[in-house]
Amino acid sequence: MARLTLDNVTKRFDDGDDEIVAVDEVSVDIDDGEFLVLVGPSGCGKSTTLRMIAGLETVSDGDIAIGDDVINDVPVQRRDIAMVFQNYALYPHMTVRENMRFGLEESTDLSADAMNEYVDDTATLLEIDELLDRKPSELSGGQQQRVALGRAIVRDPAVFLMDEPLSNLDAKLRAGMRMELQRLQDELGVTTVYVTHDQTEAMTMGDRIAILNDGILQQVATPLECYHRPKNLFVAGFIGEPSMNFFDVTREDDRLLLDGTGLEYPISASIREDLDDVTDLVLGIRPEDVEIVEGGGGEHDFPIQVDVVEPMGNENNLLATFEASDRTINAIVGGMRHVRSGEQYTARLPESAVHLFDRKSGRALH
Ligand code: ATP
Repeated sequence: MARLTLDNVTKRFDDGDDEIVAVDEVSVDIDDGEFLVLVGPSGCGKSTTLRMIAGLETVSDGDIAIGDDVINDVPVQRRDIAMVFQNYALYPHMTVRENMRFGLEESTDLSADAMNEYVDDTATLLEIDELLDRKPSELSGGQQQRVALGRAIVRDPAVFLMDEPLSNLDAKLRAGMRMELQRLQDELGVTTVYVTHDQTEAMTMGDRIAILNDGILQQVATPLECYHRPKNLFVAGFIGEPSMNFFDVTREDDRLLLDGTGLEYPISASIREDLDDVTDLVLGIRPEDVEIVEGGGGEHDFPIQVDVVEPMGNENNLLATFEASDRTINAIVGGMRHVRSGEQYTARLPESAVHLFDRKSGRALH
């Protein structure tokens, strides 16, 4: 079974006078056959985590195990892991067939015929049979990416590691390859850790996503759980595009006062229960949960002026300002809805869609 376990894994870099903790006590269990996406902003420790799993970087503390075997000290070639890099890392002087066979030659003692058969089968799976005699320079970026994948797949490893493998492709190819990778994952069922900073990839490809910030794991959950039930402010702001709207609020009994606006947001007893004694809060609402209504007057309705309308075809992205304040809010409405910039509307923030966080710790309370 290729279960991959990270147990309190830490990586410290000694940078002259400074010590950089690039990965800070990260623990995660990745099931056999699971596709885990490791996501987070630049410098959060994604690549370092992947490189430790691959054996390209030593582990400062903690254990990495495949199944029941701790692999911290197992050399790269003996880890039964195949890695796909952002820059493909194909050998320019070798043909596609030779590139794909190279990994097999290093890690197995199969006969030449058997190796060719594996290469042919993998090339068919990836629909690159026609390219086997070409050199990498004679391939498009998308085709090179397929060859890089082929070279990993042909080895039939216990674990795939992928470091931003689609980031050099244009948007359309990337969307196609996202689907292709999901199809391959369904077909091959190999445990995969996939690093990206692109949250669309994280949301669409991962069985679960692990969100890192500053070397610290913030949440590991299904994409929908991270979206609907973010554990903290960081996850709430990171997942979702455009980002969740945030407002500093101060609680007074059964109302939230939106700081610096004079606006009040009444809250029901069930929300109050979740807030414990915390009074300094952040209210979050996703743009797609903001309703734009005409008229209004409800207790969760606020007059706004729409400043910018971005028609996206299927939907319109709006930027609006609360009346009598300088606070803005992003909203998304359906593409058929006519909303004009410069006009007054009402923004309804339904209580069922509101998230509340402890301002000090960032922890989600409701
Ligand atoms: P990106 O998305 O930009 O590739 P990342 O999330 O993959 O970023 P890492 O490359 O893992 O981030 O880097 C994590 C932190 O460790 C960064 O602060 C980086 O500067 C630092 N770091 C990485 N490698 C080294 C090294 N060899 N020596 C010193 N510091 C390093």
